[in-house]
Amino acid sequence: MSNDYERFLEARGVETPCERCHGLGTRTYGSTATWRGGIGGQMVTTSVCDKCWGSGDAHRPWRSWREIELLVAENARMKAKKAAADKAAFKARGEAFYAAGG
Ligand SMILES: [Zn+2]
Repeated sequence: MSNDYERFLEARGVETPCERCHGLGTRTYGSTATWRGGIGGQMVTTSVCDKCWGSGDAHRPWRSWREIELLVAENARMKAKKAAADKAAFKARGEAFYAAGG
């Protein structure tokens, strides 16, 4: 016997539906902060499921959006650090040039 729900799960490749989103990959949150938690607007908002991260499968979660957000922030910090170091190195080269008499 196959119903729409089972066909949907099959189409998504879900073998064991995630208990939190029932295989949908999305769920509704009570605030606009969604899976981030913390402070958000008072509005029911649909976003990625914070248990399977969209896969819908309890045993094969996709990569955590929280983890990705941390990695993106870390990457931005490293880029800013590199830009500051490049600027300092450029300035040091300029000073060395003028110190040597131009
Ligand atoms: Zn889920």
